[in-house]
Amino acid sequence: MAHSSAAQQRLAALSSHLSRPTARLPDWNGALAALEATFPADQLSLDAATREAHGQSWGSLLPPSPPAAVLHAQTTSDVVAVVRIATRFGIVLIPTGGRTALEGQFTPTCCNPPVHEQWNGVVPGRRQAATGGTVPRPTIHVSLSRMNQVLQLHEQDFQAVVGPGIGWQGLNEHLAAKGVKLMFPVDPAPGSEFGGMAGVAGSGTNAVGYGTLRAEWIQSMQVVLMDGSVIRTKGSNRARKSTTGWDTGRLFLGSEGTLGIITELTIRLAPVVPLKVALTSFPSVADAVTAVVEILGAGLTPTSLELLDGTSIRGLNLAKLLPDALPEEPTVLMRFSNPSEAVNRASLEAVATIVKRAGARELKIAKDEKENDELWKARKSQYWSQQLLIGKGCRTLITDVCVPISRLAEFVARSEVLVQRSGLVAPIVAHIGDGNVHRAILWKGKEGEVERPKEVELLAKALVKLALELEGTCAGEHGIGLTKRKYLRRELGDGTLALMRTVKRALDPLGLLNPDKVLFPEGEEEYM
Ligand SMILES: Cc1cc2nc3c(=O)[nH]c(=O)nc-3n(C[C@H](O)[C@H](O)[C@H](O)COP(=O)(O)OP(=O)(O)OC[C@H]3O[C@@H](n4cnc5c(N)ncnc54)[C@H](O)[C@@H]3O)c2cc1C
Repeated sequence: MAHSSAAQQRLAALSSHLSRPTARLPDWNGALAALEATFPADQLSLDAATREAHGQSWGSLLPPSPPAAVLHAQTTSDVVAVVRIATRFGIVLIPTGGRTALEGQFTPTCCNPPVHEQWNGVVPGRRQAATGGTVPRPTIHVSLSRMNQVLQLHEQDFQAVVGPGIGWQGLNEHLAAKGVKLMFPVDPAPGSEFGGMAGVAGSGTNAVGYGTLRAEWIQSMQVVLMDGSVIRTKGSNRARKSTTGWDTGRLFLGSEGTLGIITELTIRLAPVVPLKVALTSFPSVADAVTAVVEILGAGLTPTSLELLDGTSIRGLNLAKLLPDALPEEPTVLMRFSNPSEAVNRASLEAVATIVKRAGARELKIAKDEKENDELWKARKSQYWSQQLLIGKGCRTLITDVCVPISRLAEFVARSEVLVQRSGLVAPIVAHIGDGNVHRAILWKGKEGEVERPKEVELLAKALVKLALELEGTCAGEHGIGLTKRKYLRRELGDGTLALMRTVKRALDPLGLLNPDKVLFPEGEEEYM
């Protein structure tokens, strides 16, 4: 890869101009005094219970890692103040939203006292710092959840300006309560908030129709940088289109809290239109993929196309959440949202013909809103119901590869062989219309276990390797955090990684903003 190493050398030379200022030893006592002098007590949590809850990333299966403190920001000025304190006293900051990210994105990696330990005058960081190597630094979680206001609503522009602490669900409920027929259509986990949604920039079940958070749903952001300045990525511009200069907003979308702290977002909204759910099952995943490609190729415009394999359906049947048990076969659920019921019905008539040709059972179309909800429950309950496949003590690692749709059937067939060889159970729920496959690897955990068993780790790696071989990605929508850094060199190449490091150094020269996420600490790279 001569091309990549030449790029790497050029960027390494550029990076040396941006050499990092020597970070001073962290001074936690100084930082704490400054925090207490700046913020009222109800904005600063030092108690064990809050720190413990904040350090728990249940979805990532990483051991709990409580921060030293949680600062509940209420304004952009609060964020500026905590940034100034952090840079003055050498303290790490991690912005947090709903804390639903799955890859360890908000897990502190630096030294913080265990929650049961009293401070007793111990300055976290000093002890470890004395041992040399990277200076470990105490961490403040900067929670943006209290900044949850809808600041402006521009109905005729299909736009809203929101704080980072409101979620897509909260916003949609707010709009519905006001009788506004607009909504935000991108739907990651319930509980996720706009700051964190921009931080990971993933998507959800509606991506096939509406695109991902990396599309144009987030038009502009107000961001606090680590030098304490506040920028707006599109300035005062709220126009629907603009080509003014570099798209600096894109830098922060998916930056996982490593480049700046988002304190306001200008977002696009979509009209609320009638919605219809339908489902059917196929003899094989390959048949389901054939039908999906045909549906998309026919110019039909589903908002969601989701696949549950036979094992996932078995979990749903065990949970008895649906009015009738479903055949334990690969099942595609779909949603159509169009300006009228008639258009939805006409689209689904065309779909019925296509799926029949691909060997599916009869297409079941919801009669009314109640049935819409009942059928969609199959999708919404999959994560929880699959635990019944293993029973008490079930632990889950959700994988998140995405491949070109044309390679999806091959991915599923070859991954089935890997799963069988591993002896593990790994049902599929896939955003099939995007080629994004979540195989949830299940196993019975032991009491107090904090590490994934070796066979689970090996299967997760093998699935990523297969996806990369098929020109896919290790992270369709859940981001990189701590757990997927090892795959980045193979997926992105050295030149792109070097460019990312250059940007990180330019924006966070002291390395205090969510360090170790996305990129390994320099000199500690362990790529696959
Ligand atoms: C059951 C379940 C299902 C899920 N399904 C999906 C899915 O379908 N699609 C999908 O895309 N994801 C999914 N996720 C993952 C998760 O919901 C998303 O990544 C979500 O966007 C994270 O938002 P959050 O508010 O929880 O962010 P957090 O987890 O709090 O933070 C995520 C990242 O953003 C950074 N961050 C937070 N706030 C800010 C800010 N104000 N400024 C800068 N950086 C910030 C954090 O430092 C962190 O790196 C799922 C998770 C779970 C648990």
